[in-house]
Amino acid sequence: MLIGCDYGMPEVEIDYGLCISCKTCISTCPMGVYGESGGKVSVESPQECIACMGCVGACPVGAITVTE
Ligand code: SF4
Ligand code: SF4
Repeated sequence: MLIGCDYGMPEVEIDYGLCISCKTCISTCPMGVYGESGGKVSVESPQECIACMGCVGACPVGAITVTE
């Protein structure tokens, strides 16, 4: 689904090969980008990301990549 402009929105990715489901990213993100379903942390609202990089620094295993 493509709506309107598609530039300026950061991409948020979790490397599930590294993620230990500690949920730190959920509590760290000021924009509520992360959520949880079935015990697995997921990127639910990437359009809200302001690329503050808080989650990238907070993740203990370096599983998060935010690309502006
Ligand atoms: S970069 Fe900031 S706003 Fe974006 S997902 Fe991470 S903590 Fe949330
Ligand atoms: S902070 Fe990192 S390891 Fe913890 S749930 Fe989020 S992506 Fe996974």
